[in-house]
Amino acid sequence: MPYVAGKGFGEISRKYGLALETIVKLGSNENPYGPSPGVVQALAGISPERYPEPEELIAGIASYTGFPEEMIIIGAGMDGVMDTLTRLFLEKGDRTFIPTPTFSYYEILTITAGATPCLAPRGPHFEIACDVPPDTKMAFLCSPNNPTGNVTSEEEVRALLESTEAIVFLDEAYVEFADKSLVRLVEQYDNLIVGRTLSKAFGLAGMRLGYAVAPQWIADQYRRAAPPFYGISCATVAAGVAVLSDLPFMRGSVEKIISDRQRLQWEIKAHPSQANFLYLDTPQDSREYVERFLARGIIIRDCRSFWGAGEHHARVTVGTPFENDRFLSAFLEICK
Ligand code: PMP
Repeated sequence: MPYVAGKGFGEISRKYGLALETIVKLGSNENPYGPSPGVVQALAGISPERYPEPEELIAGIASYTGFPEEMIIIGAGMDGVMDTLTRLFLEKGDRTFIPTPTFSYYEILTITAGATPCLAPRGPHFEIACDVPPDTKMAFLCSPNNPTGNVTSEEEVRALLESTEAIVFLDEAYVEFADKSLVRLVEQYDNLIVGRTLSKAFGLAGMRLGYAVAPQWIADQYRRAAPPFYGISCATVAAGVAVLSDLPFMRGSVEKIISDRQRLQWEIKAHPSQANFLYLDTPQDSREYVERFLARGIIIRDCRSFWGAGEHHARVTVGTPFENDRFLSAFLEICK
């Protein structure tokens, strides 16, 4: 199955004849507050004729995460980081472990590498419900999980790491919205990589900048296999450096999103979430349900494209209070 992205402004505007500025986009887990204002100035100062110099960016990530630069790897989004890692470690005939429903790119990367995904349905509370099968080469855990919003506890992650020789990729794309990160476990397990991104809490989805904290043996191999300049541009470097030097801005928008998440979750009776989105059970087929929001210019995500999510789930990103209110009034109309 190809990667299905959330719908864009242009597509919905054309399809329903709606003015672009009236559309509310809550389908791609973006951050409505955007990046630190320092980004605009940083972008004005770039030298597009030069190749990027990522050293300052890597130093900024090292200082943000508290890990040495040698353990930081970067790429064009976390997608780019995972792409290089799977090129490096997966071969034809290998197997990967993927508790579902979850972010579908893990499965796509597995298949393009010629490997076979073992898609393991999660339990009733979206917990990981089975052991990593023997002979698994890589396991992909997403916490908070996209689309369900729940986290995997430290005990569960440790037990899983100790039960397998596989390389475990723990995707913490949404961790700034959660109570706790497990990134420090990378110090203790040499088969753990923790993936992160600047697309969510830092508001830089359009710049395509992701990173991971990895044991040194993996980070060294990564640097040999990564594309030149890690596939990122000098604009990306400048924007990344700027947001990492303004953590109060990021923390302020995370706080607002968490407080609106609580309000929205209560209002729509969604599943509890530690991310910037909510997972809800739809009273009717999710395709028809989501369509009714789209026709009103509110973009939310039909979860049918997430393997194992079934046909009665939708995902809504927490937006600004104004956007959330637009969503809520449509919700009340549709669900009355
Ligand atoms: N992991 C998860 C769980 C995600 O939801 C996303 C973005 N949709 C990514 C990784 C990729 O993030 P990036 O924008 O850094 O490529």
